[in-house]
Amino acid sequence: MQRDEQIFELIEAEKQRQLHGLELIASENFVSDQVMEAAGSVLTNKYAEGYPGKRYYGGCEVVDEVEQIAIDRAKALFGAAYVNVQPHSGSQANTAVFAACLNPGDKILGFDLSHGGHLTHGSPVNFSGKLYNPTFYGVDQETGILNYDKIQEIATKEQPKLIIAGASAYSRDIDFKRFRVIADSVGAILMADISHPAGLIAKGILNDPIPHCHVVTTTTHKTLRGPRGGMIMMGEDFENPFGITLKNGSKRKMSSLFDSAVFPGNQGGPLEHIIAAKAIAFGEALTDDYLTYMLQVKKNAAALAEAFVAKDYNIISGGTDNHMMLIDLRNKNVSGKQAEEALVKAEITVNKNMVPFDDKSPFVTSGIRIGAAAITTRGLKESDMQTIVDLVDEVILNLEDETVLAAVATKVNALMADRPLFVS
Ligand code: PLP
Repeated sequence: MQRDEQIFELIEAEKQRQLHGLELIASENFVSDQVMEAAGSVLTNKYAEGYPGKRYYGGCEVVDEVEQIAIDRAKALFGAAYVNVQPHSGSQANTAVFAACLNPGDKILGFDLSHGGHLTHGSPVNFSGKLYNPTFYGVDQETGILNYDKIQEIATKEQPKLIIAGASAYSRDIDFKRFRVIADSVGAILMADISHPAGLIAKGILNDPIPHCHVVTTTTHKTLRGPRGGMIMMGEDFENPFGITLKNGSKRKMSSLFDSAVFPGNQGGPLEHIIAAKAIAFGEALTDDYLTYMLQVKKNAAALAEAFVAKDYNIISGGTDNHMMLIDLRNKNVSGKQAEEALVKAEITVNKNMVPFDDKSPFVTSGIRIGAAAITTRGLKESDMQTIVDLVDEVILNLEDETVLAAVATKVNALMADRPLFVS
């Protein structure tokens, strides 16, 4: 069969874009060669509906071992008693948890999307806001930080059945212990979505949700630096508090409900090539090298935030505890859309992002979100962060000046020259 040059040329073009540009998108990273190799392996050929040892297809002996290793490594990495590594994405992990814990129409309480939450935490354009009854908490306008007394007040008033702690654009550590007190006070299930800071949490750099939350979901491709995918975890199994009592008097365990909600509830065959890649990424994350990487991500993010603040950029909450930050550009008279578009011309990728109490639409926005996970994988250190902020600032101050944007692109290419995507 003829090689599909049309697609391979595009893949090469994307590789060159990634190699020569500056990747500041907070949700992106670069995987190791072995993660990439597993993701492109013959395991993509295998159907394996079911779970290790309980499949609906023959010939699953090998993938059973792969999936079990992925589960065991994830358990060791996060100190979890239960893990499901099959969700194809973070959204599907959340879909499965909601399906297992809730009935359509049930009330949920999540972090407002425009304050830093995720679409799957109750947005009206997502299944979570269409199928369930969403209510929201947000950050305080003055501080940009979560106010737990206010969250308690909202929970008491709304009486949700499920509370979501976690975000896509919140730069501060989350008090999961306090969230559990709030959840217990209203009899709600507490779910943490640690998609963004998962790697920092795994290495003990941020608060650990596992001891406090009933269930924890994550993506595997952000700070965790694995293939694109999702995962569900529990610190300990428990009986479904809302479930129908079985004939023997017991209620179904949540582990069995989560497994059924993923397959057959929400997905068909698992992506065993991706599960193999997850296993490798978890193995990498269990090493001390990965701890060094995570500590460097945190240092780089802090250095970026400090340099932005020194140039009068308004970082929501004033700084960062994790790998990312949200910048309100209103004092620069620039929208998120304008900034994103001009930065792309300078070969710097960020995403436009709503900021708390934004007066612009999600298509325009007042802010940009910036993260340090990807640039740290490429080997950049604190000393490079001032250079990056200078380059971003030059673009923001010269949005329409194509000559300046081209000159910044040349500087970006020089900064990234001779750096592989993944520096081990
Ligand atoms: N949850 C959070 C907090 C996220 O930030 C994201 C992705 O941005 C997701 C869930 C969804 O992940 P995916 O894009 O894999 O569906």
